[in-house]
Amino acid sequence: MRVLRVALEVPVAKLFDYLAEDRTPAGPGDRVVVPFGARQRVGVVVEIGDGSAVSTARLKPIVRVLDDAPPLSAAWLEQMRFLSSYYQRPLGETVAGALPPRLRSLKPLPKKRGSSADPFGSGAPRYVAGHEPNAAQALAIGRICAALGDFRIFLLHGITGSGKTEVYLRLIAQVIERGQQALALVPEIGLTPQLEARFRQAFPDARIAVLHSALQDTARTHAWLDAACGDAQIVLGTRLAVLTPMPRLGLVVVDEEHDASYKQQEGLRYSGRDAAIVRGKLAGCPVVLGTATPSLESWFNCRAGRYELLALAERAVPGAKLPVVGTVDLRAENAQHGLAKPVIEAIASRLARGEQSLVFINRRGYAPVLACEACGWAAGCNRCSARLVVHKAAERSRESSGCLRCHHCGAAQAIPRGCPTCGNVDLRPLGRGTQRVEETLAGLFPQARILRIDRDSSRRRGDLARTLAGIGRGEGDILVGTQLLAKGHDFPNLTLVCVLNADNALLSTDYRSAERLFATLAQVGGRSGRREQPGEVLVQTRYPGHPMFQALTRHDYAGFAQSQLAERESAGFPPYVHEAALRAEATRLETTMAFLNAAARLVPAPEGVRIYDPVPHVITRRAGYERAQLIVQSASRPALQEFLRAWSTALPATAPSGLRWHLDVDPIEFD
Ligand code: ADP
Ligand code: ZN
Ligand code: ZN
Repeated sequence: MRVLRVALEVPVAKLFDYLAEDRTPAGPGDRVVVPFGARQRVGVVVEIGDGSAVSTARLKPIVRVLDDAPPLSAAWLEQMRFLSSYYQRPLGETVAGALPPRLRSLKPLPKKRGSSADPFGSGAPRYVAGHEPNAAQALAIGRICAALGDFRIFLLHGITGSGKTEVYLRLIAQVIERGQQALALVPEIGLTPQLEARFRQAFPDARIAVLHSALQDTARTHAWLDAACGDAQIVLGTRLAVLTPMPRLGLVVVDEEHDASYKQQEGLRYSGRDAAIVRGKLAGCPVVLGTATPSLESWFNCRAGRYELLALAERAVPGAKLPVVGTVDLRAENAQHGLAKPVIEAIASRLARGEQSLVFINRRGYAPVLACEACGWAAGCNRCSARLVVHKAAERSRESSGCLRCHHCGAAQAIPRGCPTCGNVDLRPLGRGTQRVEETLAGLFPQARILRIDRDSSRRRGDLARTLAGIGRGEGDILVGTQLLAKGHDFPNLTLVCVLNADNALLSTDYRSAERLFATLAQVGGRSGRREQPGEVLVQTRYPGHPMFQALTRHDYAGFAQSQLAERESAGFPPYVHEAALRAEATRLETTMAFLNAAARLVPAPEGVRIYDPVPHVITRRAGYERAQLIVQSASRPALQEFLRAWSTALPATAPSGLRWHLDVDPIEFD
């Protein structure tokens, strides 16, 4: 008896069996309509079996095979199998979750856009060259082109502004010329409309499928179909684009490979970068990881000879130099309003010369704390173990007054008139966020045009893209912003970057915080001096002697990475060991801890696998749930995987009702 095992989007960790009948021949990769309870659903056949645990009498045949999209290929199913087993997520949920919503629904697909008779025929490679590659770019292009047709991993380590994009475009031109498709992943596409524009400019005749999660259903389905049918020569998208079928994949590019947003934080918790490498392996094509600040994992793999290092050590625009990076010692400089004198003077000199300055502070809102100095009370969130952030009324919003907001659960409330504990009416906002810095700068430089860029200032994607484009054209004298401003933008007139509050990250207990801070500061600093005028970066800190700042000042990524790797090795952290986290949350902390303690003893740890004691998160309560996690480590990936397989099978029966849990393989967030 032949049985079709079908992946369905239902929260049950199994595939569903249907009878394979001759009148509806279906095989692995087919999308099928199946009866499910009283309704019908769309699923994907992932296997054909010859038996079922369900009694023959109860097995039903499928209703029909859908042929409005090409069947999913064996290579695609292979990728899903890999992701399912590596990230410990049932195959059915992995497959269903990888498809755009429309392909899982009974609604017919939108009519496919006409495909050119020969998408790779004459004309379609037409590549409009940007710049003649310089020597370093030419070398990188040559090495990677020589590997086309083979699986090889390259780390393109290019400083900010070194012309990595130009390298990607030239490679893609070659791939199209070979009649193949290219996949280019970027961390955030809404923030980098410039990048999409550059792709369209470089390939005016090519079909480019743009894929990200904010797309409307129909647009996303069209893009997916273009990629899956092989009509799109280029797929440009965020991490989810790595799950798109591409029948003629010839190159994978992962831009800003170190970026934390490549890691999905819910459902299938995959790393888009790591999935891209698997993709390249299955397709037998090169994978290019590009960045100015490689993740320590990738750097480690380079040094171990697994990736080939290609360096772009100079800025591509002739005459453009990396900015001069300096620290401002907050112990010596008094910074009354959060801005030290040298910083204020540097901004004033840019204003006088008609150049732009950027003040970077990684915290939005007005002030992180509202406190009563009489009794020590501070406003906290009822549902989270966290302080409420003071927000001033936004000029463009309908809120007439400010409010207190929780940045963890989103709760908002009015600012109290007095202290709820002692009645004192003189409540003080302590510390500063972007709004307060904006206010301070407006007081210091009344004649300047100040633009604040954070998630509150630009609620809609389109607004942000427009603001960023305006800054690129020279709008705004002083920009105040969060990491939204750090990524990939080209602001030709920006010559000064001032960094506030960098020390918070230095004091963090997360072993990745120094790596992240270095990457963020190199990135945000890299926004300045991208043309002829030299750039300057000033970092306010109480620890100017810290090795991280020293390395940053020297633009010494390699030295920084080496010292970080030495620390990781001696402390036994990734990339020297592999990790997985089991996280749980329940309304009572005892429930959470009891589950994790039981989980720790559930399956004996094999040789070389270490299970740590469960610990509550730093912010233990979030949105009413008490959260804790336990870490499992091993120097051996196979040993860890073997343990995780046994564990994830046994865990569901251990979890009490009302408790939520998940496994995170290669976790990067611990807060
Ligand atoms: P990255 O992605 O490495 O930060 P970009 O690719 O954005 O750098 O390039 C930075 C700037 O250098 C862009 O303005 C780009 O047009 C320019 N550029 C790139 N390659 C060259 C080149 N070979 N000669 C001159 N300018 C170049
Ligand atoms: Zn009080
Ligand atoms: Zn909260």
